[in-house]
Amino acid sequence: MKKRHIAIIGAGTAGIATAILLAQQNIKVSLFEKVEQLSPVGAGLLLQPSGLAVFEHLGVLEHALSLTRIVTGLEGQLANGKLLVNSHYQQAQDDFYGLGIHRASLTHVLESKAHAFSEQISWYLGYEIFKINEYSNHVTLEGQFKQQHFSAHFDLVIIANGARSHLRPESWVKINKPYPWGAKWIIVPECEKFETHILHQFYDRSQTMMGIMPTGKVPHSDQALSSIFWSIPSHQLDQFLTKQYSFETWLFDLNQRWPKVAEWIESIKPQIEHPEQWLSAHYRDVVMSKFGSGRIGVIGDAAHAMSPQLGQGANMALLDAWALGQSIQAATQHGALNLSHLWQDYHQHRLSSTNFYQFFSRLLTPLYQSHASWTGPLRDLSFSMMYQFPYFRKEMAITISGLKSGLFSNMKYQDIAQSSFKK
Ligand SMILES: Cc1cc2nc3c(=O)[nH]c(=O)nc-3n(C[C@H](O)[C@H](O)[C@H](O)COP(=O)(O)OP(=O)(O)OC[C@H]3O[C@@H](n4cnc5c(N)ncnc54)[C@H](O)[C@@H]3O)c2cc1C
Repeated sequence: MKKRHIAIIGAGTAGIATAILLAQQNIKVSLFEKVEQLSPVGAGLLLQPSGLAVFEHLGVLEHALSLTRIVTGLEGQLANGKLLVNSHYQQAQDDFYGLGIHRASLTHVLESKAHAFSEQISWYLGYEIFKINEYSNHVTLEGQFKQQHFSAHFDLVIIANGARSHLRPESWVKINKPYPWGAKWIIVPECEKFETHILHQFYDRSQTMMGIMPTGKVPHSDQALSSIFWSIPSHQLDQFLTKQYSFETWLFDLNQRWPKVAEWIESIKPQIEHPEQWLSAHYRDVVMSKFGSGRIGVIGDAAHAMSPQLGQGANMALLDAWALGQSIQAATQHGALNLSHLWQDYHQHRLSSTNFYQFFSRLLTPLYQSHASWTGPLRDLSFSMMYQFPYFRKEMAITISGLKSGLFSNMKYQDIAQSSFKK
């Protein structure tokens, strides 16, 4: 029997994790990535229990633990010193935790595992795909490699090329627009001024937000790291630490609100005082009516980019990969893949959970990033009330854990971590 051949476009979190999960089912995978070398830059991110369940399923959790910092919760302080957000993973389940990870380490962990499947996975680095043509019995990709045009055909193509994808079918896209707010990010030696196992956030109304996130280490280094992020309207990102908003002004603003943060920032001044030391992050809001049909599927940020307020993007990408692996298995009988069964099963796994997180993210983000005068006070009041009820504290912790599958339903860590493939 001819072996099934699936193309994945994009070797980010979603693409590499999917490649591993398909290879584990002995499916032939071609992974196309436009950059010639995977050298992810940028900030750290937070792997939630949902993402860790997929890591356990992939068999990479132990490797990840050696490079990351365990995070027990999220604490958000107001300018008057009051603790507004006080969510801990244990409130969701006793043994839950998150992992602060550097983007390079996340890629390294996934890439190392993928290389163990060298017979099944072929890497095409430097190959940019610009067109997909779907036919009744195959799908064709067109692209370029070193300025040479190429085309190749496959049984199925998975689009995993990130938030700015031009490849996702236009007719499936309901919303695709940039967020008006972005953030400046930088990675520095670990901040020991605050508890090192907590993601610390600082808010003043909804115009000012800063975070200090445990970030673990990069491969082959012993230096523990933290990421700092500073939220800014997108059109002002280039002004940060320039004449328009100098380092001294920033320090003054911090000192007015959180003197301990200002003291730490001042102590690391040489590493962070120049604008070119920081990265600018722009975010998009992408909502689709469906994630797959026929011979085309869309996963990760390409399918559901959102603001990082809830810290779910990479975790949702991992859940997509896991669900796709499960659905391909469920839709395969006697070696034949039933495509309508595949997408029906996949949507059952992912649609309602994704809708929940996208809705919640769109609801919450303006409470943290907006010029409106009422959004900050509304957040401060409603959060203070909410945290008084154990039910809401638990629901908030489950939401942050990434395991909500709807307003009143949750996924179970063990169901994801211990799901297996038929041999
Ligand atoms: C500043 C910031 C902080 C974040 N913090 C968190 C957090 O704490 N927790 C969390 O879970 N998530 C976080 N996220 C979100 C998370 O990073 C993304 O959701 C996740 O990386 C999405 O993975 P992906 O594989 O879908 O896309 P990407 O990681 O964007 O990968 C897409 C890949 O496709 C490649 N590509 C693009 N076009 C083509 C093409 N035409 N042909 C071939 N290859 C192509 C790209 O080069 C890239 O390698 C954050 C995001 C940002 C920007």
